[in-house]
Amino acid sequence: MAITKTDFMRGMQCPKMLWLDKHRPGLRIIPPEVQARLDAGNDFGDRAMGMFGPFEEMTVYRPGTRIPDKKAMLARTAEHLALGTPVICEAAFSSYNNYCAVDILRKTETGHDFYEVKNASQVHEQFIRDAGFQYYIITRSGLKINRIFIVIHGPDESDPFQPVDVTEQAKKYYTWVNENIWNLNRMQKQREEVPADPGPQCEEPYPCWYYDYCHGKLKPAGQIAFDFDENGGETE
Ligand code: SF4
Repeated sequence: MAITKTDFMRGMQCPKMLWLDKHRPGLRIIPPEVQARLDAGNDFGDRAMGMFGPFEEMTVYRPGTRIPDKKAMLARTAEHLALGTPVICEAAFSSYNNYCAVDILRKTETGHDFYEVKNASQVHEQFIRDAGFQYYIITRSGLKINRIFIVIHGPDESDPFQPVDVTEQAKKYYTWVNENIWNLNRMQKQREEVPADPGPQCEEPYPCWYYDYCHGKLKPAGQIAFDFDENGGETE
């Protein structure tokens, strides 16, 4: 695959971050508290799948791994779209090999709505950009999207899933995605390390996991590389 949602958001924070993800992932150092937040986000995302009742989940892993098999997920999603399945979770889409999987895709009378789940108490702009990337890929794959929601974590633990309509804001990011996705595609494939001077992007919107590498403080021990998920609100 070319660019995923995580790739895009990380590349827009810092192109070097995306390049390191592709070429030197072993240099990542993920603080335990960040990992715990990612895990909690994944758990919240799993629970949210049932917020509209029965659903079909598209997740398929490569044999013997926890790495998503994107081609199999795309094929499975296409099957369920053809069947008219009312609620599809982890629905996968691609356009020119760029890829996204949406947390919840819900069929409507005139098309589909989608829901991006975030384990956070409020909607941050970064979440809307995430949804804008998904809207771009899904629309270019040929599916009509009506409304777009971010599902945040509300205070009532017996029913914590609170959808917030971000349709108008998310759809405005279509042009921004199109203006940047092709450059990131080219850049991530280049052989030479992408140069970037450390700056505010090392902390915002998310602390960079290559901080020690770029700031000359890398310790050999404690390096972690893994496939991460989106619902923690950190990245994808
Ligand atoms: S530490 Fe800063 S310069 Fe280095 S990859 Fe991360 S964001 Fe970019």
